[in-house]
Amino acid sequence: MTDKSGVVVLIECEDGAPVPMSTELLGLARSLADKTGGSVTALALGSGIAGAGDILVAHGADRVYLADDPIFTPYQADAWMAVLVETLRDLAPAAVLAGHGAVGADLAPRLAFRLESAAVTDCIAVSAEGGGLTFTRPCYGGKAHEVVSVKTAPAVVTLRAKSHAPATPDEDRQGEVIVLSPDIDPANIRVRIVEKRRETDDGQRLDTARVIVAGGRGLDGAEGFQIAGDLAQTLGGALGASRVACDLGWCPPSRQIGLSGRTVAPELYLALGISGAAQHMSGCAGAKTIVAVNTDAQAPIFKYCRFGVIGDCRELAAALIAALDKSKG
Ligand SMILES: Cc1cc2nc3c(=O)[nH]c(=O)nc-3n(C[C@H](O)[C@H](O)[C@H](O)COP(=O)(O)OP(=O)(O)OC[C@H]3O[C@@H](n4cnc5c(N)ncnc54)[C@H](O)[C@@H]3O)c2cc1C
Repeated sequence: MTDKSGVVVLIECEDGAPVPMSTELLGLARSLADKTGGSVTALALGSGIAGAGDILVAHGADRVYLADDPIFTPYQADAWMAVLVETLRDLAPAAVLAGHGAVGADLAPRLAFRLESAAVTDCIAVSAEGGGLTFTRPCYGGKAHEVVSVKTAPAVVTLRAKSHAPATPDEDRQGEVIVLSPDIDPANIRVRIVEKRRETDDGQRLDTARVIVAGGRGLDGAEGFQIAGDLAQTLGGALGASRVACDLGWCPPSRQIGLSGRTVAPELYLALGISGAAQHMSGCAGAKTIVAVNTDAQAPIFKYCRFGVIGDCRELAAALIAALDKSKG
């Protein structure tokens, strides 16, 4: 079923359900399709995902294709590509949207190549003004934004997490759910996952945290991060870090925020001893309120924050923990 102005969203699933990013992609796809007059198709691959169809329709999909088979979990490019290429050739949409995570970043260029089109990765905005689609993404380490368009279709686009508001579910929405039965020869799967290790870091998730306490070089070591972690816990939030702090081994790399780390959008972002390099700030620009603590009054982070404290971050963190503990009795 061809829909040249349609938008297709690639859905990753975890434990049988679409990952949180899916609702952000569907919200964006819905707003684009409403402007172009096309439809929104969700294409979900995974194992045990029969229940995902209704969830995706409720979040804005007009049509859902489900490829439900153990061969799709964990992600394997060869298995996914077999289904995606065939289905997308049939649909011939204007754009294909995916999250800019490990799967999306691996999949987008492969898919664009097979569809003889182009990939635009790590986007933060898509516009449907003026007749065609344009894509905005950070460049020069986050210091500037470039706006690009693609001459071929479909444009295969990956989007940063938290760059768009999630779609609001409507349980009364009606849509079509089509179950695909792909016949994939396991012999054609050239890459195999031989081992999967779960992170030992069991702190609160960064992507859903309402409060993040993030530390940088100014915390001056693992001991400083212990204090920052205690403060995060006292505030019911998650611990984050700058790249320098992760590179120095003070905090696990999974906690890195920024251009080459995670993108977050908490209500409160408390930055302890972080200078405010553009590459760090591009990962937390979506925070509602940034509070910075730094000994250097000229630190660039003071240009980004709503509240700034010139002082020692370890002293301030310890004092805050003591005050919060006292107020809790
Ligand atoms: C391609 C590329 C990608 C990158 N990706 C990322 C990324 O994803 N995330 C990221 O964070 N960085 C990234 N970087 C690195 C980035 O440019 C900075 O080097 C890094 O963010 C600096 O970390 P920092 O603020 O902890 O350290 P610094 O820049 O060294 O700043 C430390 C700050 O702590 C202050 N300070 C010192 N002592 C105290 C104290 N006792 N109390 C309070 N403040 C104190 C200092 O005044 C200073 O402002 C990237 C760089 C490149 C080139």
